[in-house]
Amino acid sequence: MRIDPAFDQVANQYLESLTHLHSANNGHDLPVCQICLGPTRTKKDSLEHWKVCWPCRQHQSAPGINPEELANTVGFITYALEHADGSADQSLRDMYQYKQLPPGQSVRQGISESGQRIRTLLYVTLRDNLPLLARTVGPVEVITHVPSTSSRPGRDRGALADALDSAVDHIYDIAPHQRLLTSTSDRPGSPRAIDPSRFSVTDPTAVAGRHVLLVEDTWVTGASVQSAAVSLHRAGARQVTVVCIARMLKAKWTDGAYLTSQYATLRPPRPGSVVFQVGE
Ligand SMILES: [Zn+2]
Repeated sequence: MRIDPAFDQVANQYLESLTHLHSANNGHDLPVCQICLGPTRTKKDSLEHWKVCWPCRQHQSAPGINPEELANTVGFITYALEHADGSADQSLRDMYQYKQLPPGQSVRQGISESGQRIRTLLYVTLRDNLPLLARTVGPVEVITHVPSTSSRPGRDRGALADALDSAVDHIYDIAPHQRLLTSTSDRPGSPRAIDPSRFSVTDPTAVAGRHVLLVEDTWVTGASVQSAAVSLHRAGARQVTVVCIARMLKAKWTDGAYLTSQYATLRPPRPGSVVFQVGE
C-alpha cells in the first residue's frame, strides 16, 4: 500500500496510546461465534459451545434470504462493553460520542477525540488488512458504509462516512469510498430482523460484479449490516466483506459471562492487527 510515511508514523503512535481498547482478535481461544465473535451458548447437556450464535443462525435462516446473500467475510477491530448497570465502557462511549454533535450545532466543527480514535482505527485496519484480503479472498474493488438510520437530534449522520473518507484519503492506491447505500426509512421495523428493504443501492453499476468492502461502526445484533450486505448482493456484488469497528458486548448476558468476564484481559489493537479470519 502506498502511504504518507509521516502521517503513518503519527497514526501508529496514536494507536499505541489507545490502551483502553480491547481487540476482538487478539488470539484468545474463547469459544466465540465464528461470524460475529460474540458469545455462544453451550449445547444441551454438554460443555461444548455452538460455533455460531443464536442471532447469526437466525440471519442464516431468515425467511426470503439466501444465506449466500449475507456478508461473505466479517471482521471486527475491537469489542465494546455495556456494563451490568447499563453504563458504557470507554470503547462504547467512543462509538456513541464520535457521532454526537456538540449542543446547539448542526454541523461538526473540528474532530473530537473519539472521532480521531475512529479515524485512526479505520486507517490502520484498512492499511494492514486490505493486502491480506487481496491475497486470500481477492482485492477490494469498492468501499462503502452502512448509512445511519438514526433520526435523533444532535446526531451527525455523516460521521462514519467522514471518518472513512479520512482513512481512505491517506492510502493512495486504495479502492474508492463511495456512498452507495441509502436508508429507506428513519423508522425501520424490528431492529433484530434482516430486512433488505431498509437500504437501497444508489448506483448498482458501481457494485455489479465487484468485491465490496462494507464498513459499519457498531455490531449490536448484526441485522442492520447483514441487511445492507443482502442489498449489495442483490444489486450484483460478487462478494461483500464487512468490517465493523466495534462488536458490542453486554455484561448482563449470563450466557456470555465466560467472554465478558475476560474483557479487561483482551489486549488493545496494535499496528499489524489482523481483523479477518481468513487463512492464507
Ligand atoms: Zn454470531
